[in-house]
Amino acid sequence: MMKDFEYLEPTTVAEACGLLKQYGGEARVYAGGAYLSIVMKQGLLQPKVLVNVKKIKELKGIHFDSVAGLTLGALVTHHELETAELVRAKFPILCEVERDVANIRVRNVGTVGGNLASGEPLTDLAQVLISLDARVKISGTSGERIIPLEELFVDYYQTSLADDEILMQVMIPPLPARSGIEYIRFSSSSVVDKPCVGVSICISLEPEGRACHAVRIVLGCVAPTPVRARRAEQILEGKPLSLELVEEAASSAAQECSPSSDLRGSEQYKRAIVRTLVRRATSRTYERALKGE
Ligand SMILES: Cc1cc2nc3c(=O)[nH]c(=O)nc-3n(C[C@H](O)[C@H](O)[C@H](O)COP(=O)(O)OP(=O)(O)OC[C@H]3O[C@@H](n4cnc5c(N)ncnc54)[C@H](O)[C@@H]3O)c2cc1C
Repeated sequence: MMKDFEYLEPTTVAEACGLLKQYGGEARVYAGGAYLSIVMKQGLLQPKVLVNVKKIKELKGIHFDSVAGLTLGALVTHHELETAELVRAKFPILCEVERDVANIRVRNVGTVGGNLASGEPLTDLAQVLISLDARVKISGTSGERIIPLEELFVDYYQTSLADDEILMQVMIPPLPARSGIEYIRFSSSSVVDKPCVGVSICISLEPEGRACHAVRIVLGCVAPTPVRARRAEQILEGKPLSLELVEEAASSAAQECSPSSDLRGSEQYKRAIVRTLVRRATSRTYERALKGE
């Protein structure tokens, strides 16, 4: 059952961080509420104070700059990301991913910031953004910091955000020429279910020739946090793709995660899915990079 709580609506990031500091671990940031409303109703989280950040302008908006790349305010909703023309023009993969996130009710209220800051393991965005080398800007009472997105995730539902910190923006650098990216999500029960496995792969080609460069293979839902399959990346790095290399990288990735057996499938089943998806996504990504998409 949901307990009574105090509800505050700051209008600046500085004010919000100050409130979070004042109430310590008893306060929670509230954005779209898609996650919080459920865990509070279930009694799994019982914050004494909710700091609603929806009125903070600094957390809104989608911008693109040819040097800095794409910047997403933490309050950008899934629906905004899915339908933004700017995103479709610069990073169409993000619109594609968003089409399969949850359902329209969740996409209308759920935010990018909430998706990442909840530290939920069965999600889609994190692995795609990490494969795009995204960074996040974080603000707290002692100032701002920027970290690679992968460093945000610590464990199941745990992030590296301190009690007084707010995730402000996600920053995605422009993709080099001759790059490709592919995300494949697999749901084992129904297509609207949360993913059972999600694999995102980004490959750039060396300026001349067909060798892979800057390979990023990110596995989602198969560990407490998104996982970079670094050995698999190294298998491909600096070489033109071949069937043997794809197979070797896929087998390696399947061993670089730590899936748990649950209602969505056994550990072995999920490793087999990882292997299949890495194989498929690597080939598609490489083809896209060759075409210069
Ligand atoms: C039925 C359902 C299906 C779903 N399916 C998918 C799916 O298929 N794929 C997928 O990727 N996701 C899925 N999700 C997750 C969904 O995307 C997130 O729950 C949603 O984006 C959370 O955003 P929110 O703004 O509602 O966060 P809230 O519920 O408001 O907050 C979530 C958590 O993040 C913290 N928080 C929020 N914003 C910030 C911030 N700016 N700075 C610091 N902390 C912050 C809050 O304190 C809280 O702990 C699903 C969720 C539901 C309920």
